[in-house]
Formats: sequence, C-alpha cells, structure tokens
Amino acid sequence: MADQQNPQNSSEEYRDHLATVSESGKRIWVYPKQQKGKYYWRRTIVAVLLLLLFFAGPFIRIKGEPLLLFNILKKEFIVMGFPFTVQDTFLFAVFMLTGIVFILLFTVIYGRFFCGWLCPQTIFMEHIFRRIEYWVEGDANKSRRLDKKGWTNEKKWKKGLKWTLFYLVAFVIANFFLMYIIGSDQVIKIITEPLGQHIGGFIAILVFSFIFFMVFANLRDQVCTTICPYGRLQGVFLDKNSITVSYDFERGEPRGKAKKKKKKKADVALADVGVTTASFVGEEVLGDCVDCDLCVKVCPTGIDIRNGTQLECINCTLCMDACDSIMEKVGRPQGLIRYASYNSIVSKKETTIFNVRTIAYTVVMVALLGFLGYLLTSRTSVKLFIQRTRGSVYMKVDEQHGKNFYTYQLINKTRKTIPVEIKLLDVDGKLDFIGVQKFVVEPKGRVEGSVFLTLDEKDIHGHSTMVKVGVFVDGKQLEEVDINFVGPDK
Ligand code: SF4
Ligand code: SF4
Repeated sequence: MADQQNPQNSSEEYRDHLATVSESGKRIWVYPKQQKGKYYWRRTIVAVLLLLLFFAGPFIRIKGEPLLLFNILKKEFIVMGFPFTVQDTFLFAVFMLTGIVFILLFTVIYGRFFCGWLCPQTIFMEHIFRRIEYWVEGDANKSRRLDKKGWTNEKKWKKGLKWTLFYLVAFVIANFFLMYIIGSDQVIKIITEPLGQHIGGFIAILVFSFIFFMVFANLRDQVCTTICPYGRLQGVFLDKNSITVSYDFERGEPRGKAKKKKKKKADVALADVGVTTASFVGEEVLGDCVDCDLCVKVCPTGIDIRNGTQLECINCTLCMDACDSIMEKVGRPQGLIRYASYNSIVSKKETTIFNVRTIAYTVVMVALLGFLGYLLTSRTSVKLFIQRTRGSVYMKVDEQHGKNFYTYQLINKTRKTIPVEIKLLDVDGKLDFIGVQKFVVEPKGRVEGSVFLTLDEKDIHGHSTMVKVGVFVDGKQLEEVDINFVGPDK
C-alpha cells in the first residue's frame, strides 16, 4: 500500500503504527464525530435491509429447510436450503472456494467496499451501537468530556444506561446468532421453556451476549484494524487500480486553511497560459483542501485518509460525506474525497476496472460458479454407495444364473424420512437385500448392509460386466450407480 501514498506526503511515519495506538503502546480511544450525508443515508438503507434479513433469516425456509444453518456440534450445515452432509465435503469446499475467490475479485476491483457497506461488524457498530451512544452521551466532544470526568452522577447514569442498552441489543443479536447455529426452534425453546431444561443453551446465549457486548462496547475499531483477517490482507489485495475511498491529492494539495486561501489552482492554470485573473497576482496558491480536519474527526478508525490508502480504512464513506459538506460550504466541487483508484487520481482520468488481474479472476470465478452450479443441480437428497464385498467371488446359482455379493450404504441427506426403492435399470436380474424388504431412511440417517446381485449368464460378459442400478423416491429416479459384476473365470 505504500505505493498508494499521497506523493505530497513524504513521511511514511503513519504506517509505522496504528492511529489508535500511542507510541507507548496504549490504546487511543476514538471519538468519531457524528456525520451524515448522502453516502451515510445510502449505507443506512443497505444496513436496514441487511438487518431485516439477519433477523428474518432464521425463520425463512426453503423446501422446509432453513436458509442458513451451521450446527457444528451436530455436523448439520445448510446453505440456501441445501443441506450439506459429511459426504458433501467436496461440494462445501467448492462453495467456500467460490466465496473466497469472489471476495478476492471483488476486493481487487472495489477495495474494502464490503467492510463499509456489508460487514456485520460495521453495520451493528455504526448503525446500532454508535447511534445508541450518540443518543445517550451526545456527539464526540460531549462523549470525550464525559469520559474525562470522574464518576459523577451524570456519568454514572449515562454509562449505566448506555451499557444496559448495549447489553440488551447484544442479547438480542446473540439469540439470533445462535439461531443460525442450533436453529430457531431450539432457541425459542431455550427462551420459552423452564430454565432448568436448557441450562446449557441459556449459558451459551449469555456467553455470546457478553462477547458481542465487549466487541461493540470495547473492541470496536480494533476488530477491523487488528483482528479481522480480511482487513489484514488488504495490502495483498489492493493495487493502484482498486477503487477505494481516496483523497484527491492532485486537487487538494497543497492544503491550507480556508481563511489563508487566496487562490485556486484553476487560476494558476489560467496564469500558466497567460491569463491573469484579478485575484491571482501575488497571492498564495493552494489546493481545494481547507485543512479543516473534519475527515479525520469523523473517521471511526482514527486515520487521516489524506495520507493515502491505508489498511485501517474500512471504506465507511464518512470522510466522503464530511468533506462534501465542507466543499459545499466553501463553494467548491464535491468529491475531493471520493471512490477512486490511485491511478485515476494521478492521471486525472476515470478509473478502469478492466485489467489483466480482474479479467483473470472473473474467468476463474465464472468457471467456479459453473462448476458449483453443476454440483448443486446434480446433487441428490439420497446417496447410494455400493461395491463388491472384498474377497467375494462369482457364485454359480444354477445352470443359467450366477451371483455376486456386495455391501452397500444408503444415505439420506435431508431432514425428512424418505422411502427409497433400488432397482436394476438395464438388465434382467435380481437384487436380494439381506434382511430388508423396504427402505425407509430416517432423516440424516443411513442404512448399511449386504446384497446379492443375480444375473442370467447371457447378460454376463466376460470377467467384468457393468450393471446400472437406479435409486427411486416416489417413483422418480434420483440417482444412477454403476456396479461391477464379476463373471466366472474361463
Ligand atoms: S478514512 Fe474515511 S472511509 Fe476510511 S475508515 Fe476513515 S472515515 Fe471511513
Ligand atoms: S474534510 Fe476535506 S477539506 Fe477538510 S481536511 Fe479533509 S480533505 Fe481537507
């Protein structure tokens, strides 16, 4: 990222330490000034939609299955209503790989857009907890003054109210979060049934609530700047063509206080071609940045975006809104801080998202999506594994027939009981499942056993004959499995 630094700023000192850590290693608490603007409102709309989805998600069912479920304890994983079992490890790996490549590709093109607009940490922090804080303690200066005070009555009730509200919200989030792990029905039982019956579940909710409380009451920006692996990888993902929240140093520098500013660069440009504007003669030349520091004061990670692209920037757009409000006041065009790539600022051209890397990533992404689509559509709710029993040989039944011995495993991947029929597809013969008349596979259950396959000798072709076996549910064929029938030694 060092190569995406404001070239007018020769010092890289700001990269040596986090803006929120003092030289002695102590944490510097960030009091971001409240800022509203067009990007803030757009992000609010997105946040409200995502919060609705988060709170509605556990109750959404697709073909009777939850939208998402990650029950690690019971090894139950459901994504978009698709249950994944241990047999789907490969599919799950492709799914995860596709997700990672998508995030990578997206980051290369649009920088840390995800963090500012879609990340749950930012959404909960900036759109719920920060609002509660502003409501109880007031804007940055009031909050700072309150923290400096001793434990006065005002501080006691304000902190008490804030932390109580924080914990209540954290408790609600923890409940919904747990619904994505153990399911909404189970969480509702924990909450509504006598405590003694679900003491473990209730403790889990309290622990999660406390973790969420600490994340939003204390850790806050540290999650984005020091804990989140995605944030730490930005230096690898971003290049000079990535579109990030950027300060236009070509337009903004040299910066200077508005009152000292006598001349705009435009006038200098005119002077260069021989046109002297009335106010130019003998006056100081400054860029559009009036050095008001508002972009720094609103930043929730405490950085100065004017130094250049930084690891700590979560692309929350607050500095864009802040600077736009200043530009409006001083009568200059908005967008001094805007979504732009480093190269577009240097070249003063619109940035392009088409470069070799993005095209290569897109190709990989489309291929992976296609492969994932194929795997998902060809995936069945029932899986049959059947193979010849080790050491077994061809057995003669009578003059006309011979048989082979197999072991099989029938797996129900769904959470419903499924009646299954297994039949030979393209050959006359007989499947004798030992001890089984009819298959009814329990939810997520499996049936294992042995089976004899008997064939007419006219259908046995030499030492190895491939036989097709169909798996039927409600008369509909779900799967076709090839098995090898070993013929007699000649
Ligand atoms: S620099 Fe701007 S976009 Fe980045 S985190 Fe700070 S305020 Fe948000
Ligand atoms: S808000 Fe805009 S004008 Fe003010 S210091 Fe930041 S970049 Fe300069």
